Amino acid sequence: MHDVIIIGAGPAGLSAAYWCDELGLDTLVLENTDRLGGQLLQVYNPIDNYLGLKVANGLELSRLFTAGVEAAEFDLWTGVAIDSINLKAKRISLRSGEQLQAISIIIATGVRRRRLGIPGESEFEHKGIIESAARDRDLFAGKDVCVVGGGDAAAENALLLAEVCPTVTLVHRGKKLRARRTFTEQLQSNHCLTIFLESRVTRILGEENVEAVEIVRKEGIKPFQMAVRGVVIRIGVEPNTELFLEQLPLDDNGYIIVNGEHETSLANVFAIGDVSNPLGPTISGACGSGATAAKVIASRMLP
Ligand code: NDP
Repeated sequence: MHDVIIIGAGPAGLSAAYWCDELGLDTLVLENTDRLGGQLLQVYNPIDNYLGLKVANGLELSRLFTAGVEAAEFDLWTGVAIDSINLKAKRISLRSGEQLQAISIIIATGVRRRRLGIPGESEFEHKGIIESAARDRDLFAGKDVCVVGGGDAAAENALLLAEVCPTVTLVHRGKKLRARRTFTEQLQSNHCLTIFLESRVTRILGEENVEAVEIVRKEGIKPFQMAVRGVVIRIGVEPNTELFLEQLPLDDNGYIIVNGEHETSLANVFAIGDVSNPLGPTISGACGSGATAAKVIASRMLP
């Protein structure tokens, strides 16, 4: 029996773990991948909005966040596959057969990139689907590319690619871009960039590598193919809540609903970080919510 089991070792889970440790709680962290840092590991741009720090990318920040793990006393298991969870009973069954039990559970499972679900999307991973313009744009210098999405991430990737690619076509399903104004102004004034609104990429095509995308510009109008060598897909994120379906109330987009103490509708089950923060996901917010949950748990358990 542990005092606390934390599921997920991104910024929120790690912050909660350090705080639980400092507050004297017997804590176990379960991480399903082999690496610590969560979404930070997919951030290839400099991060300068985490108070007091300026780092080259998410990996560097994750190294700073995990530097204290060895010295900390919480248990940390990576590469753990959870088979099922009974949140009411605070019982977790691992695929290895092991059964775990805690007094409190903190869910810090974060979000993942949303996928288009179109033919070619999986097939051309690492073969023309660009993971990140910040990381990979030099590989696509001199090539025509397409970016799908209408938010900040799509805009930022399009602008980075426009520095090295002859043409960048941004394809957005909506009537209006959702990206922040500084990005949309730059997009509109960039002569390498074309924006297709109310349009969809419906297929990614090629032999070995990406060679074209199929685009539908308006419902009912025949799709056409456009030759490109690279495609960036940035259509937002979705929460990792599959393990908790039907056990917790979720909002319309699948995010876990919590109160001001980050507690869910089940007593002693908390949700922190992006998985419960659809409106303002930030690294600092994730760390803060981890600290709050740990302090609430400690205040209930310790004399
Ligand atoms: P957003 O949720 O902001 O935008 C997602 C976009 O993808 C929307 O325009 C949406 O269209 C579109 N979309 C969603 N689903 C589909 C679909 N199935 N098919 C086609 N299009 C779809 O996500 P982002 O990934 O842009 O950004 C995520 C977060 O990261 C945001 O908070 C953003 O501000 C932040 N961010 C910050 C940056 C920075 O500070 N420099 C850089 C990048 C991201 P519609 O508008 O029609 O709903």
